[in-house]
Amino acid sequence: MSEKTILVWFRNDLRIHDNEILSEAVRKADKVLPVFIFDPFYFKTSATGALKTGSFRARFLLQSVADLRKNLQAFGADLIIRTGEPAEVLTELAEQYHINEVYHHREVAPDETEVSERVEAALWKMQLNLKHFIGHTMYHKEDLPFPIKDIPDSFITFKKKVERDSTVRPCTVSPDHVTTPEITDAGEIPTLVELGVPEPIDDPRAVNTFTGGETAALNQLHQYLANNQQNNQGKNRVVQSSGLSPWLALGCISPRQVYWEVVNHQRENHLHGAEPLMLELLWRDYFRFMFKKHGQKFFRSEGFNSEAPDVATNQNDLFEHWKHGETGVPYIDAAMHELNATGYISNYSRQAVATYLTKDLQVDWTKGALYFEEKLIDYSPASNWGNWAFVAGVGNDTKSNRYFNAAKPTVQLESKSDFITTWLATDEGASTIPA
Ligand code: FAD
Repeated sequence: MSEKTILVWFRNDLRIHDNEILSEAVRKADKVLPVFIFDPFYFKTSATGALKTGSFRARFLLQSVADLRKNLQAFGADLIIRTGEPAEVLTELAEQYHINEVYHHREVAPDETEVSERVEAALWKMQLNLKHFIGHTMYHKEDLPFPIKDIPDSFITFKKKVERDSTVRPCTVSPDHVTTPEITDAGEIPTLVELGVPEPIDDPRAVNTFTGGETAALNQLHQYLANNQQNNQGKNRVVQSSGLSPWLALGCISPRQVYWEVVNHQRENHLHGAEPLMLELLWRDYFRFMFKKHGQKFFRSEGFNSEAPDVATNQNDLFEHWKHGETGVPYIDAAMHELNATGYISNYSRQAVATYLTKDLQVDWTKGALYFEEKLIDYSPASNWGNWAFVAGVGNDTKSNRYFNAAKPTVQLESKSDFITTWLATDEGASTIPA
């Protein structure tokens, strides 16, 4: 009988732990061919000069792919790296390595699902199957107490039912070893210049440093757990934000692994109070499931409403000021400077700048979402477009009000003077602040 070889196509699942496609391929096949493809679509520059993937995220991706390759090598394998259109690359590799089946994780955003469809059609012509797995959420789609089409649009109802009727599956067992066919040309990781992306300049004011890859993701999680234990001596509570979003976005760590490590850490150390973190992970799941349910609606100015919100006649000028942190509003400008200089801002800042853009300046929210798409190091389609639609008041859930009160100007909500001084002090933007 001939050998069975499965090609594992890594996309936003750049990890070995709790990676069902890898474990399943190792279990089912004699040999496994791990592949990552840099698709030029994600490194385009628009007519206005905006990048689809900004410098900080592109560098983070290169680091993550390098780390995955290193980790796979430690398992006796390697990672084939190519740049090109996935359907073309995968069919070529399938032919070269006599592949029997291709595994990948299903995505939910339209661009990503279209790529999968093109790959599926191309493989089908070779009579090869593209097998879809679901591996990006904390709760597995099949364990939800409702089919995707019936998921409640209200987050509160979704949360209540999921927490009552579903459980988080255990992590998959990682393979001990990954056997590949003989790889003659594994390929090099492209440089940022080759991808058409400028090198990022690290700003010494940045509070967080993010290095891509599963190794750094696990360090971040363990550091987070250790810090919480230290900071909460006597209080026995797990608080603070985890700073895990860039790694979760690229799948360098799974939300399920975060869940179980936090639960086990709490048990072992007699801690409690991880609910805020679990709640945030549930918001992440919710937006992904909503994307699966509603798709393109999240990209329209009118969103789920019949009409788009009113916009200012000079919205293009206002948007330019907002982008460059030149609105004259200290907190907003400081946050935008931080975003432009580092690719990362806190959830509080995201809500503040998004609310300010949409409610105070009355600029079309999709402009802001597109700008975040370029800049954020943790950009993830469902989390970004879902949150923006929510802030703009055109989301699918009109009941959950967890955002700033639009009736009050955002400006008055926070002083945060150290933050403002840091991000405006040495910056040209500071000159626009009224005395
Ligand atoms: P924690 O508080 O530690 O939460 C744990 C994880 O839960 C996060 O890492 C993240 O994966 C998830 N999470 C937390 N809050 C949310 C939320 N509101 N919606 C969805 N998932 C959440 N998050 C992204 O990961 N990618 C984005 O592109 C993104 N765009 C956003 C745009 C706007 C306008 C707003 C208001 C929020 C956006 N968020 C996005 C959500 C949130 O701001 C970040 O996930 C959070 O700041 C990351 O910090 P953390 O890892 O310390 O989060």
